Amino acid sequence: GRRYHCFHFYSLDIEEEVETRLRTEQRMRTEIEDNRFYNVYQPIIHSGQHDTIYAEALCRWKNSSGKEVPPDDFIPVAEETGLIRELGRRVLRDACRAINSMQEAGHSFITISLNISPVQLANPDFVDEVRAILTEENTEPEHFIFEITESAVMDHMASSIAVLEQIKDMGILIALDDFGTGYSSLSYLKKLPIDILKIDKEFVADMTTDGQDRIFISAILSMARALQLEVIAEGVENAQQAAILNEMGCRYLQGYHFSAPVSFDKMVELSTSQGLKASRSIS
Ligand code: C2E
Ligand code: MG
Ligand code: MG
Repeated sequence: GRRYHCFHFYSLDIEEEVETRLRTEQRMRTEIEDNRFYNVYQPIIHSGQHDTIYAEALCRWKNSSGKEVPPDDFIPVAEETGLIRELGRRVLRDACRAINSMQEAGHSFITISLNISPVQLANPDFVDEVRAILTEENTEPEHFIFEITESAVMDHMASSIAVLEQIKDMGILIALDDFGTGYSSLSYLKKLPIDILKIDKEFVADMTTDGQDRIFISAILSMARALQLEVIAEGVENAQQAAILNEMGCRYLQGYHFSAPVSFDKMVELSTSQGLKASRSIS
């Protein structure tokens, strides 16, 4: 009857999903070694001083069949299997090398923002691993921002704070990613040693049509000002959004309006070019 029918489809779905996950996992294991994972970088535009370039590093996987697998498909698998630890080390190492090459070429100071998974944060070796990679690569911690999410710290508040404090003591800044979507409890803001809030793109997307979203953003900005936190708005897709955010006093903007994530070289080129400078000074 109907019950059986439902069960049947349900179990098929699960079977299919398990198989896809397994395939993804096996593939990831070999293809991490084959260097099929790499970083792309999305510029973060700053409306004040222009002597620092900011960008977020985002991981990409072009698999052996030539298919671009989106991070939303492979990051969860990497987290479940623990592969995120190896992936995270590679993302950091790549970023170090990119930073070094840029500093050697005599460009402006660069700050790279990296996403840190809850699984990495919960790993007791995390801080030592970060320190070891920075030492090996000879890259200053001051070049980095680590992005975490509320869900990363929720379950292990005390130990997470301890880890973040150690990261901060090294000279790395901490950003709270996707702010506004998760639990966004004010108690997190009080307890966590964060420097930056990243307003989720969901709010920015509806800002021009939804007055309430605009009110939320403005509230986040005044709260951040009072707490002396910087704010980065994500997902800025058009000039109108950029102009409103600028007017509201949001100093860091990121999104397709300025640039999609691109190769490191392209990002440096864009960040130093007239085009991006022009869109920086909309106000
Ligand atoms: P996220 O950290 O919030 O990154 C922002 C996402 O928004 C990126 O998606 C970026 O390409 C996308 N984006 C940028 N500008 C716009 C815009 O104007 N409009 C819209 N609609 N989207 C925009 P991406 O690269 O697919 O990454 C998705 C998520 O995967 C990231 O979200 C992050 O949570 C995770 N991720 C990516 N790379 C890594 C990594 O190296 N490590 C970890 N742990 N997670 C990563
Ligand atoms: Mg992020
Ligand atoms: Mg985000």
